[in-house]
Amino acid sequence: MQDCSYKKYIFGKKERIYLYLLDEPYIKGVVGFLKSKLFDGMIGIHINEEKGADEELIFGGLYIGKNEQPLITIHKDLYTDGQLRDVLFLTLMHELGHYFNGDLRTCPSEIYERRIRDIENGAVSLEERRADAFAVRYLGKKRVISGLEGLIKLNLAAESTEGLSADMCVKELELRIRLIKDS
Ligand SMILES: [Zn+2]
Repeated sequence: MQDCSYKKYIFGKKERIYLYLLDEPYIKGVVGFLKSKLFDGMIGIHINEEKGADEELIFGGLYIGKNEQPLITIHKDLYTDGQLRDVLFLTLMHELGHYFNGDLRTCPSEIYERRIRDIENGAVSLEERRADAFAVRYLGKKRVISGLEGLIKLNLAAESTEGLSADMCVKELELRIRLIKDS
């Protein structure tokens, strides 16, 4: 590994989560790691340089890679644009919340269908609410809201590979902001 300098961020007070963000992407788009006593090993963070056939841009997603290790993929602008730190931190803590809450064990299409139905009814799905609650625990309300507002401005299509439409995504982000403000 060449000169691998990084910045370290610490989230949470009692149970800490450490983010190591590399100054330059390493091989295979790796840009950082998350580490904590809350989970085993390290969770790699990758940037997503690929665009889908429909040019849909995804801001973040949680995947299980080889060796059953989870990875978080983020849109590259979240890594390269220093102005988007709240958006980056929110995305990472929200995705980590999905992992921590065991959401990967539920069938993705089942989660997706319920999520769409909830948005149509002006609600936020249980998985999304719980992932946001996790993010609030480590970042605080103010930073999470700032991150969610940043996502609306960026107008990236959706989290995860399922791809909510951009309109649906904005509607859900607005609902999520309101829920956090009211909590
Ligand atoms: Zn989510």
